[in-house]
This record gives sequence, structure tokens and C-alpha cells, in this order.
Amino acid sequence: TPETYKGRDYDETMRVKKKHISPTKVPAYSEPLLLTQGKMQWLWDHEGRRYLDMFAGIVTVSVGHCHPVVADGLKDQIDRLWHTTNLYLTPPMHEYAEKLTATLPDHLKVCFFTNSGSEANDLAMALSRQYTKSFDVISFRNAYHGGSPYSVGLTAHGTWKHNYPNGFGIHHSVNPDPYKGIWGGSKCRDSPIQADRECGCMGECEAGGKYLGQLREVLDYSVSGRPAALFAEPIQGVGGAVQFPKNFLKGAFDLVHERGGLCVIDEVQTGFGRLGSHMWGFESLGLRPDIVTMAKGIANGFPMGAVVTTPEVAQAFTGTLHLNTYSGNPLATTAASKVLDVIESDGTQALCARVGGRLIHELAKLRDEFSIVGDVRGKGLMLGVEMVEDKSTRAPLNPADMMEIWDSMKSMGLIVGKGGLRGNTFRLKPPMCISESDADFAVAVMRKSISDFVNKS
Ligand code: PMP
Repeated sequence: TPETYKGRDYDETMRVKKKHISPTKVPAYSEPLLLTQGKMQWLWDHEGRRYLDMFAGIVTVSVGHCHPVVADGLKDQIDRLWHTTNLYLTPPMHEYAEKLTATLPDHLKVCFFTNSGSEANDLAMALSRQYTKSFDVISFRNAYHGGSPYSVGLTAHGTWKHNYPNGFGIHHSVNPDPYKGIWGGSKCRDSPIQADRECGCMGECEAGGKYLGQLREVLDYSVSGRPAALFAEPIQGVGGAVQFPKNFLKGAFDLVHERGGLCVIDEVQTGFGRLGSHMWGFESLGLRPDIVTMAKGIANGFPMGAVVTTPEVAQAFTGTLHLNTYSGNPLATTAASKVLDVIESDGTQALCARVGGRLIHELAKLRDEFSIVGDVRGKGLMLGVEMVEDKSTRAPLNPADMMEIWDSMKSMGLIVGKGGLRGNTFRLKPPMCISESDADFAVAVMRKSISDFVNKS
């Protein structure tokens, strides 16, 4: 238990929550966790119980809870200057813009800073509409791109939408989901698991081609002329670590580019080396995006987002003034800058490849051992385990059973996420500092929780 650990009364916190906190804030688990402390991959609750955090608060903590380099950078900046960046020049924002663009391909040179991922996608949508002078935007079903009134239109899960206009001019194409999608494609994923590499279609996935046909139909039937943009995640995050068939996104980007639209890649969950093979998810797929959006792990949990684009697209936004009071503020950009320093000095990307590789192989054994573990997928430290009633139907495991297994993992000191439209995929996306033994511990707890559940049923 860390020395600074401070307890807090659970019942008192729940009383305040019920009375004074938005009812839409629904915490995880049947008995929500009251967290009081975090250090690297570990979290502590109000009674000093320790948990291995394999979810990083939905990928928000990138290099580790309260990472000393990021924390020291913030402490230093806190005594110097916190201010708006809209009226004056501030060193952290300019230093960071140079560092961040150095990690991206040469054509992506200009940064806009925001305070969240939703704001980043809102801005990317506005930029692409301004640049193309077109209105129609496309995203995939099962995508999550934000919850703001604009970006929630890109998000394609009914569970996140309210009954008011959710973004005019946005169209959703059929999701190229290799496990549940109508044409499959799971044997054509870019996966380290042997069973996923036995496709006979030589990299030109037949299923991928059919999903692409659906995108072509959206462009032909729903869009008026030139599209403004296509938005996509390299691997769908909230949607449950859904990894598209090989070359699908490349084909989708080519198609939209041919029609004169821009391609926006949402790296809010996949960026900063998490996929292991590359710094950015789009690089691992051979894509050339016009706009990249990022947030969450960008500043290790400090509120921040960014949009990086080409000088030409950025220029399209100069017709009017654009204000965002806190965007690129000195504290957020200091934290973000320190995150890049840590990623560079600590071999973070290589760790994601190494530990993530071990994790997915061990998780694949669970899929072979249990009839309710349907699919194991992902890349680096962005993994999903889809739970089913039975493998032949692939029907989702019901919410009560998911909750029982999830609670049981928590009781053994393991935090994982849950995702997908039906909440039946466990998501493993830890801070990018876990060790092989942490990965083994996570799999051992999952195996015990699943077998306890199966043996009881
Ligand atoms: N894009 C993706 C891929 C996300 O996962 C999220 C958040 N889950 C967002 C955008 C929105 O980010 P924020 O919650 O910071 O607005």
C-alpha cells in the first residue's frame, strides 16, 4: 500500500453519488470500485486492496498511473504557468507540436489541440467539410468516435444515442466484423494467432471485398456527390477490439480518396505505440490519412486531444476565428510531451509487441479450453475476448453472466474492460508498462473466473 494512501467512506461516497452526480455516470461492476490511488499498472481501492489495471480507464492512462516523469513534469509546470493558449505563445504547446509531428508522416504537419477525443472528432468533421465543401460523412457501424452532439452521430451504437438529431449527413456502412459480420473474415485478420492465419485468399480477403462493396453502395446511394470524409478506428475500441479483415481499410481509404473525400483515422485508443508494431495504428495498416485524431493516452489521463492534418486542410479553416480556451494549455501539453519522452526512452512500443504477443497467445488457449470464449483478437496491448453462449451460434453471453464473471475477476484483483454493443467482449488494454508476469496473472485470473462460472452452471 503506498504511503499516501487515504481511505474514504464507501457508503458516504455512494450517498453523494446518488444525490449529486449525473445519473448517466454508471460505474462498472455490481459493486462499483472506489479508487483512491494509482501507481503504474496498479490501482488501490478505499480499503487499500490492490488491483492489476488491465484497462487503464479505457486506455486513458498510457505509460502508467502517476508515472514519475509525467508527474514531475506537471509539478514543475504547475509552479510556472497555467493559462489559456488562445492569446499568447506558450513554450509547452510549441515544443509539443514539434515533437508530436516528428512521430507522424511528413504530410501531417499542423496540430489543432482540444480537450477530449469527441472535440477532436468534431473538429476533424468540421475541417473536412470546410475543405471539401461537401457535407456527407461516413463511419462504420459499431464505431465509437465520441459523445458530443456532433461526434455522437459518427458513433454507431444505439446505446449511446439520445432521441434528438445525432449529426445530420452521417452515414454508417456495414461493419466489416470478421467474427460476427455477415461475411466473416476472421481467418484474414492481421493476427499473431495461428488459427487466424489460415485464409486461402492470399491477402485479398474475399469477405473484405464484400464489406467494401457495402461502402461503395453507401457512396453511390446515400452520399450526394463528393463525400466530405470517412472516419475509422484502426481497431474498434469501445466496439470490442474489432479488427477488420486484412487490407479492408486500405481499400476503403482508396475508394473514398477516389471520390474526392478525406480519410480521418481515429487513433484515440490505438495510438502512441499500443499496437506494438508501429507508433500509429494507421501505419500498421499501410494507410495515408488526411487527418489523425487522438486523445486519452496522449497525456496519460490529463484531459487533452489533438487533430493533426496537412497544411492544405488546416488552411481551409482560416476563414473565421476559432477559439477553444483550454486547448493546448501548458499543463496538458507538458503532460503530453512527457508521455512522448517516456515512450521514446522506455522502449514502450517494443514492450507492447512483446507482452501483447504473449498475452494474445495465452488468451487464445482460453478460447480453446472454454465453449463460452468465442473469439480472441487484437494486436499489441489492445486485445478483446468475445464471450458467447455457445461457439456454434456465436450468440452473445447474456449481461448477467458477463457481470458475474467480471465481478469475479475484480474480486481476485484484476480489472479488465467490457465492450461491444451487447457488452459481451472483455477488453484488455493496460497501461503500456505491464510485465510478462502481469500478463500471466491476468490470464490465470480470467481462467479461474471462467472455469468457476462454467463449473457452477
Ligand atoms: N474516439 C474513440 C476511438 C474513443 O474510444 C473515444 C472515447 N471512448 C472517443 C473518440 C471520444 O473521446 P472522449 O471521451 O475523450 O471525448
